[in-house]
Amino acid sequence: MTIVTGRLAPSPTGAQHVGNARTYLIAWLSARAAGGNVRLRIEDIDVWRNKPGAADEAIDDLRWLGLDWVGDPVFQSARLPAHVAALERLKALELVYPCTCTRADIAAAASAPHAEHEGPTYPRTCAVRRADDVASLTVPYTWRFRVNDSPAFVDGYGGETRVDLNRAGGDFIVWRSADVPAYQLAVVVDDAEAGVTEVVRGDDLISSTPRQILLYRALGLPVPRFVHVPLVVGADGRRLAKRHGDTRLSALRATGVRPEAVVGLLAWSCGWRRDMEPISAAELVPLFDLQAIPREPFV
Ligand code: GLU
Ligand code: ZN
Repeated sequence: MTIVTGRLAPSPTGAQHVGNARTYLIAWLSARAAGGNVRLRIEDIDVWRNKPGAADEAIDDLRWLGLDWVGDPVFQSARLPAHVAALERLKALELVYPCTCTRADIAAAASAPHAEHEGPTYPRTCAVRRADDVASLTVPYTWRFRVNDSPAFVDGYGGETRVDLNRAGGDFIVWRSADVPAYQLAVVVDDAEAGVTEVVRGDDLISSTPRQILLYRALGLPVPRFVHVPLVVGADGRRLAKRHGDTRLSALRATGVRPEAVVGLLAWSCGWRRDMEPISAAELVPLFDLQAIPREPFV
């Protein structure tokens, strides 16, 4: 049996809130309950979206919650050479092509209706290019991956899962501009390098998973187990955000709330306990049960 290695992957684009805490707690417990551990990666490749201090704050938040990890935190921004190497490999395999389309070009060319959060399916305008054609380009370009399949996968929580990638954006961007890898590529390269065997994250990322599976396969890397859990939403049914009041962990910490109180509430919300009494993350390990987590988003 392989030893389970999970991961926590906060983006330092803002404060971590109770909703993020629930996902991190589930990810940590899932690894711990299987006798494994998690690693910590700070997903700071979106340089223009990073908030100063947010990475340190996320690390403090996780420690405060009682979550730990093996090794030092990995900063995704420091992994650029590995991301570049992966892109080079995809170019050599002709699995990516340079795309010069603007958003407006894509919107104009795309006819099929699409899910609001996905954007229109890329109309493959640039798919006729070969990787080498980049030499003759004089305008900015991104690199897109040629989607030739929509791999189904067995989600550790939701079971058999299939997303039609041709309706969920089509050929997707793996490299955004000169030194900026896209999330899909960076996350695969970094999870593989960290030896991650289990990816536990919010179900808003389900449609990313078949894309990432295509990248794992293309790069010859072992595909981890994927587990997508329901998000925490506000009373209006939308993903937890500032408008739902101050649920930032840093704010709770500052007002003297005990981490056990937050963990107790989350344990109740996950169906592991009938009351909301305070409890530590470590004490929850024997109570962890993925399938007890309610299917509905937690309000
Ligand atoms: N960094 C992403 C987030 O904070 C998570 C990405 C992932 O888990 O793959 O939403
Ligand atoms: Zn294009």
